[in-house]
Amino acid sequence: MFRPSRIEIDRAAIAHNIQELTQRIPQDIMAVVKANAYGHGAVEVANIALQNGATMLGVALLEEAIELRDAGIEAPILVMEAQFPQYAGIAAERDVTLSVFSAKWLKEAAAYIEEKPLTVHIKVDTGMGRLGLRTREQLDALLEEANDSFVIEGIYTHFATADELDSDLYYTQQERFERLMDGLHERFRYIHTSNSAGAIRMAGQDVPYNLVRVGIALYGLYPSHEMETFYSFLRPAFTLKSQLMQVKRLEAGQTISYGATYTTSTDEWIGTVPVGYADGWLRKASGFEVEVNGVRCPIVGRVCMDRFMIRLPKEFPVGTDVTLVGGNVAIDELASYLGTINYEIVCQFTSRLPRHYV
Ligand SMILES: *Cc1c(COP(=O)(O)O)cnc(C)c1O
Repeated sequence: MFRPSRIEIDRAAIAHNIQELTQRIPQDIMAVVKANAYGHGAVEVANIALQNGATMLGVALLEEAIELRDAGIEAPILVMEAQFPQYAGIAAERDVTLSVFSAKWLKEAAAYIEEKPLTVHIKVDTGMGRLGLRTREQLDALLEEANDSFVIEGIYTHFATADELDSDLYYTQQERFERLMDGLHERFRYIHTSNSAGAIRMAGQDVPYNLVRVGIALYGLYPSHEMETFYSFLRPAFTLKSQLMQVKRLEAGQTISYGATYTTSTDEWIGTVPVGYADGWLRKASGFEVEVNGVRCPIVGRVCMDRFMIRLPKEFPVGTDVTLVGGNVAIDELASYLGTINYEIVCQFTSRLPRHYV
């Protein structure tokens, strides 16, 4: 790579997070590495997580599962998004577990499965309104339809508000799930309900679940501000860095970037940073601050496709390090500046930014 801009992933931070989670959470841990491990690199993170206590991996797409298999990873992998039945055979062949929620799907998928049976987890919608079956009748019909082509290994649901401490829906969803499960707990090897927020909330409770699906906490980020106190042991792993490519002095009255939205008010040192919206550094980040040599410097003018400009307090040499995210510029701070959540921030950076593992 010739460009100086890069995402640095701190392997030790991910290892630390998973070790700490393993100590606090009694259930088995599925490391959720969908979306290229929330932008951190799926294969790298999967390996670190498996070496430090995770026993299973979770992804959204069959493509993502196959990427992990092609990299030689043998741990169980659950695909949490729905898949069309015609791909059931490919999943079975690659030892990938699919999420299912209708008898009709099983019936159709059976035609595509050869010798090797497909392992499945049943997805139950208890209040997320997204994927899943909703009634005991639907569950019974599905179990009825399951033949030798399938191994029904698990059943699960997903909370909509596990990260909101005063939400009643969180408890309502647990009740709905337990009502649906009545008398069936023995039928499944894995029963799971919790994402990061739910996992840490349930850690001290006696619950009939033996697996949790941990995503955001693995990366050292909080599921929400409310969850910070539960998760004070986390260490963020993600840093976005670049270097100054040009530093120039502009006299008062000069304009900067498209639309000429910024005008220098006095003599100013302006630095150019080679990261732009094509890298996922959004135009809306105009006005945000990045860090140069420990000093916070404002972005002036509009963010371009490949670069943006900052106002420096003094002349810095070309090649000086710039930290866009990480260190004293927290992902959560950028998220709140952009009006979004940390999950979306780490997912938004494109493959044009190389990932370096340190
Ligand atoms: C993404 C996802 C998770 C992980 O959630 P975090 O809040 O990142 O821990 C867990 N379960 C399902 C079904 C998911 O889609």
